[in-house]
Amino acid sequence: MRRLLGLAWLWSLALAFPRVGVHEGFTRLVFDLPSAQVVYRLDQEGDLLTLVFSGPKVASLIAEAQDLVVNSPEVASVQVVPEKERVRVLVRLKGAVEVKAQRYPDPDRLVVDLSLKVASLTKAPPPPKTPEAPPKGRPPKPPRPVVLLDPGHGGVDPGMVGYVVEKEVVLDLALRLKRLLEGEGIGVRLTRDRDMHLSPDKRTDLSRRAALADSSQVNLFVSIHVNASPTRTAQGVEVFYFGRSQDPRVLAQVIWENGGGEVGRRLTEEAKTVAERILTDIVAQANQRFSQRLAETLGRRLSQATGSPFRGSFPGDLFVLRYAKVPAVLVEVGFGDHPAEGRRLADPAYREKVAQGLFSGILTFLANGAYAR
Ligand SMILES: [Zn+2]
Repeated sequence: MRRLLGLAWLWSLALAFPRVGVHEGFTRLVFDLPSAQVVYRLDQEGDLLTLVFSGPKVASLIAEAQDLVVNSPEVASVQVVPEKERVRVLVRLKGAVEVKAQRYPDPDRLVVDLSLKVASLTKAPPPPKTPEAPPKGRPPKPPRPVVLLDPGHGGVDPGMVGYVVEKEVVLDLALRLKRLLEGEGIGVRLTRDRDMHLSPDKRTDLSRRAALADSSQVNLFVSIHVNASPTRTAQGVEVFYFGRSQDPRVLAQVIWENGGGEVGRRLTEEAKTVAERILTDIVAQANQRFSQRLAETLGRRLSQATGSPFRGSFPGDLFVLRYAKVPAVLVEVGFGDHPAEGRRLADPAYREKVAQGLFSGILTFLANGAYAR
């Protein structure tokens, strides 16, 4: 529980510039300014809000570029970029958001309140009722992180079949991991909690999983899979984050996880066009860096917990990760067709070690600043 208090503390402190507050119905960004002579320009274009600060001492505001994953109902992320004699702030909004900016003196600051427009509020589904909701009259608890776990495949799609069946192993791992995370006060959602597909059509199935990751109520997305190799001799842990696949071996695996065969190739092509767009989207690049860091942390912790070698983290055009606005990875926990590792994956005691490794990786990532750095 002590760890969770640490997280809440990180969350409330957020960044010094801007300070971020997530409130009932709005997100507030407070920009503390070094003097009354600092001027700002504010532009809103679609889901991107840009603020540019210039004037005396503005260079003292921030030394290097910073990324902040906010993920409130109104704001996905904030990036602060120092430029020559200016500071640029890019705020990625979630849909139709109303912006109110007000300047205050003593001390000089700009307060920007962001709230969902009424029209989009009426369209949005009501927030799910959780048993943890505080009773009326008490101050709300600080927001707790919520992790979305995606046990891959399921139902008509068994995934890889070797010494184990992928859809069975990954569901068991996700349920074990859920218990561990909830024990630490972290919220958990699952894309499936039993042997089922989200659609018999692979494209629809992966899109539904991806849409859950795009929800405003999720801070991290971890899709769990079991690997296979053409020679059945490979073993170890691999973790993927969204991006262009550089290496033909990785591409072959990405096509397989995107459904395999002709479907897999088509969905990989679709994901590729999204991956290419990241090259020109500075906010998506920030989230990609977070995802890469999550991939490295998970891979190392999983390897430490199980003794299975960490083969690395790789960018891949994974359909299920393509629109995630939060740190998102696909982890291959081991090779189910390797004579030793495949048999280990059938053992409940080994699966518990895998779940412990993923748990440790997620906690480390959250504590090291998933929200702020
Ligand atoms: Zn898989």
